[in-house]
Amino acid sequence: MSYKNFPMVPRVVFGRGSFNQLSDIIAPKRINTKAPFIFFIDDVFKGRASLTSRIPLSYHDRVIYISADEEPKTSQVDALVEEIILTTNARPSGIIGIGGGTILDLAKAVSIMLTNEGDTSDYQGWDLVKNPALYHVGVPTISGTGAEVSRTTVLTGPEKKLGINSDYTTFDQVILDPELTKDVPKEQWFYTGMDCYIHCIESLNGTYLNAFSQSYGEKSYDLCKEIFVNGALTPEESQDKLMMASWHGGMSIAYSQVGVAHAMSYGLSYVLGTKHGIGNCIVFNHLEEYYPQGVRLFKEMMKRHDINLPENICAHLEDYHFDTMINMALSLEPLWENAIGKHWKKTITHDKLKALYQKM
Ligand code: NAD
Ligand code: ZN
Repeated sequence: MSYKNFPMVPRVVFGRGSFNQLSDIIAPKRINTKAPFIFFIDDVFKGRASLTSRIPLSYHDRVIYISADEEPKTSQVDALVEEIILTTNARPSGIIGIGGGTILDLAKAVSIMLTNEGDTSDYQGWDLVKNPALYHVGVPTISGTGAEVSRTTVLTGPEKKLGINSDYTTFDQVILDPELTKDVPKEQWFYTGMDCYIHCIESLNGTYLNAFSQSYGEKSYDLCKEIFVNGALTPEESQDKLMMASWHGGMSIAYSQVGVAHAMSYGLSYVLGTKHGIGNCIVFNHLEEYYPQGVRLFKEMMKRHDINLPENICAHLEDYHFDTMINMALSLEPLWENAIGKHWKKTITHDKLKALYQKM
């Protein structure tokens, strides 16, 4: 048995207003004045001076605004890489992603593809990346996915939705400034926050659980309860704590795995384009059978925050849609093995998943 040797984010700043230190933090990483920093910024911030006026641009640095309406695709990464190569005179000094999981994942993927040949989809899988990525920095503006700590970047490709899981994917630097999350709309706050809660439930109830994952998972779970159940926190405390819950939730799954909700939500996303946070909620809401306590508390949180999930999203689907969705979900074997155990194939059948999807 050999244990995995995982990279962690080597440098992290935490604190309200710490975003102001971005300039000082990246300055020593500038290769020369020709090699720009490229900032990927969620286009929700376009025209919001409170953030954009604090982006430290010098020499040939550039901002690229990116919409988070759709989750990242391998073709989008290829196009961004191409554009950067064509429009900059030198290999960039680094990529700085400012946004939610969507923008963070794009920053990770582009920083890898600027130093590795071929198409992005060639690298979807485990440990396929050959060369170290460009210096890349993550600045989350919404909390929950754990994308800021993870060693993966989740991408939808021509054949599958699968991450580039590699030691080079992890950010070189993360800036955790909870103040940046203050304007997230309530529904989105809940959905992305529940991604974190579901990471904890799936990790803590999985067969891969170990003391490493448990220690992070329990901390994250407790923080989620403080934030979403107890309701005694100020907005600032809640923002601070959710940012740390996300971090710990991400660390928890690093050494274990996610489970049923993630496997099935990947299927939904692949066929219907359902986004990760809301997709996980739609699925998790129907998983009492697998996570009875977790789902009970989830329903309580939905009630408390007055969240109404979309229903019947699979009602109009044809058999071939269900087949694609189910095959996508079933292909994520480690998730099922973690959730159910080695013999998961005995109970997790095509028909079982179809019956579950039909409820959604
Ligand atoms: P997101 O990045 O898709 O953003 C969701 C919405 O919130 C968008 O409309 C965005 O514009 C908005 N938003 C973000 N910050 C805001 C702010 N401060 N104020 C107002 N609006 C704001 O959301 P997400 O849930 O963080 O990320 C989902 C993505 O993360 C998916 O693509 C998923 O695959 C990925 N993911 C990655 C990992 C990983 O380990 N790499 C883990 C989980 C999820
Ligand atoms: Zn997730």
